[in-house]
Amino acid sequence: MGASDWKNMLKQIDNKPQIKQRFLKYCKPKDRKAGIAAFKCERCGRYGAHIKKYNLHLCRQCFREVAEKIGFKKYN
Ligand SMILES: [Zn+2]
Repeated sequence: MGASDWKNMLKQIDNKPQIKQRFLKYCKPKDRKAGIAAFKCERCGRYGAHIKKYNLHLCRQCFREVAEKIGFKKYN
């Protein structure tokens, strides 16, 4: 199970409320303070290539799309 897909597992047990409760109590991955799963892209939910600088909290792909709207300029 990767960092990203544990919420998809909830869809599978949505109509089994007791099993879902037990999953949330015992099997849910804990909230991380460090590591790759600690930061998620606010726009698309991706875990990789995260940009924390200037409180952006975007992945590099979203940053590329949004950068000019936010006010970043490309010099070359
Ligand atoms: Zn993103």
